[in-house]
Amino acid sequence: MSESTKSGITVAIIGGGIGGICAAIALGRSGYDVHIFEQASKFSEIGAGVGFGANALHALHLLGLGDDYEQIADVSPAGDPWFSFLSGKDCEPISEVLNPAPRGSVHRARFLECLLARLPPTVSTHFSSRVISVENISSRDDQAPHVRLTTVHPDSSNSIQFKADIALGCDGVKSMVRDSFQQEMGACVRYTGTYAYRGLMNLEKAASEAGDFHIVMFPIEHGKILNIVAFVSDRTRPPEERVWEGPWVKPVTRQEMFDDYAEWDPRVHAILSLVDKPEKWALHDLLPLERWTVGRVTLLGDSAHASLPHNGAGAGQAIEDVYVLSKLLGHPSCAADNIPAFLQAYEHVRRPRASRQQIHSRESGDIYEFASPMGDDYAKIDEHLQRRYDWLWNHDLDSDVEEALTFLRDRGVLAK
Ligand SMILES: Cc1cc2nc3c(=O)[nH]c(=O)nc-3n(C[C@H](O)[C@H](O)[C@H](O)COP(=O)(O)OP(=O)(O)OC[C@H]3O[C@@H](n4cnc5c(N)ncnc54)[C@H](O)[C@@H]3O)c2cc1C
Repeated sequence: MSESTKSGITVAIIGGGIGGICAAIALGRSGYDVHIFEQASKFSEIGAGVGFGANALHALHLLGLGDDYEQIADVSPAGDPWFSFLSGKDCEPISEVLNPAPRGSVHRARFLECLLARLPPTVSTHFSSRVISVENISSRDDQAPHVRLTTVHPDSSNSIQFKADIALGCDGVKSMVRDSFQQEMGACVRYTGTYAYRGLMNLEKAASEAGDFHIVMFPIEHGKILNIVAFVSDRTRPPEERVWEGPWVKPVTRQEMFDDYAEWDPRVHAILSLVDKPEKWALHDLLPLERWTVGRVTLLGDSAHASLPHNGAGAGQAIEDVYVLSKLLGHPSCAADNIPAFLQAYEHVRRPRASRQQIHSRESGDIYEFASPMGDDYAKIDEHLQRRYDWLWNHDLDSDVEEALTFLRDRGVLAK
C-alpha cells in the first residue's frame, strides 16, 4: 500500500491512552492523516505497572513495536511462570501457570514514553480538547459523508468543530463516543463489586527492610519495582445491584489496606506495609456490547470492552484491536467511500473475542477469590488454571484479519 492512497483520509482518535496512541502510530504509519483529541493537557499514564500476556506481546511485535517494548519491559520467556497462585491466609502454593510464549510487564509511564517516541509525523495532537459530540453526517450538497466532532477547551465556553472520515472512540470506560450511540441500549457500565488497592513498592528498599520473602507479584523497571494490586470483592448483592458512591480512584492510608487484609498471612502484611502511596480503585466494567460501530465511528480499547483486570488483558485487547483495525484500514482497497464496511469487518472479528475476555475475566476473579463453583478445592483450581488461558494467549490475529477480509468479500466490498 502506498502512503498516497491514504494521505487524504482523516482519522480522528478520541482519547490518547494506550489504545488511542497505538492506533495513531499504526494508522499514521499507513499514511492516514491522524488527529488525536485528548481532554487532558498532556498525555499521561498512572504510576502503576501493566502486564502483557503472550498474545499482547505478539501483537506488539506484529505492530512493529515489540523490540522497543522489550527494551523497557521485564520480559519473561516461555516456560517461566505467568503467575504463582498462593493462598493469602497462609501462603500455601495453589497453582503455577506458565507462559506459553514470552510475555512482559512494564511501568505504564515508561511504556507511554516509548510509544510517544514512535508517533509518526502524520499524527497531530490536540490537547485540552474534550470531545462532546460525534455525529455521522450523511452525504448532502457537495459534501461527502463524514464524521463531525465537537470539542471544547476546559477554559473556554467556545466549541470547535472538526471534520473527519473516520472517528475512533478510544476514550476509555466512561466513553462519550459509546454513549453517543448506545443510549437506546441503556447503561452498560457497572460497578463490579470489587475495589483494588494499587501501588508500587521499591524492591531494593524492601530487601533491606522487610527481610527474606519471596512472594513476587509483578516486577517492573527491570526488577527494581514491584507492582501491587490487592483486590477486595463484595458479592453479597447480585451484580446488577452493586453500586459505588464517590470517586472511582482515591488515595488511601496503608491502615485502610491493612484493615481489609486483617486475616491474611503476616508476610502479606509485610508486603503491604511497603506499598508507596496506595490508591483505592473502584473497578467498573462493561456489559458486553451488541455493537461497536455506527457508520464511520467505531470503538477501540476500554470504550468497547472494559473488563475487570483479573486476566491482565485489557490493554492487550486494545492492542489486538489496533492490529486488526490497522491491517484492515491499511488494505489497498480501503478508501474514503467504503470505510464503514471495513469498520464493520473489524467489529465482526474483534467483538466476540473481546466480549469473551470481559466475561472470562470476571470468572477469573471468582476463581481467585474461591467464589467459583470450584470453591477452594486447590487441586481442581490448579488443574483448571493449567488450560484456562490457552484461548487468550495462543491466538492467531492474522487469521482474524483473514476472516474479516472474507467478510468483506462475501459482501462484495472486495473482489472474490
Ligand atoms: C487495577 C487494574 C489493573 C490492570 N492491569 C492490566 C494488565 O496488567 N494488563 C492489561 O493488559 N490491562 C490491564 N488493565 C486494563 C488497562 O489498564 C486498560 O484496558 C487500558 O489502560 C485501556 O486503555 P484505553 O486507551 O482503552 O483507555 P484509557 O487508558 O482509559 O484512555 C482513555 C483516554 O481518553 C481520554 N478521554 C476520555 N474521554 C474523552 C473525551 N470526551 N475527549 C477527549 N479525550 C477523552 C482520557 O483522558 C484518556 O487519556 C488494568 C486495569 C486496572 C483497573
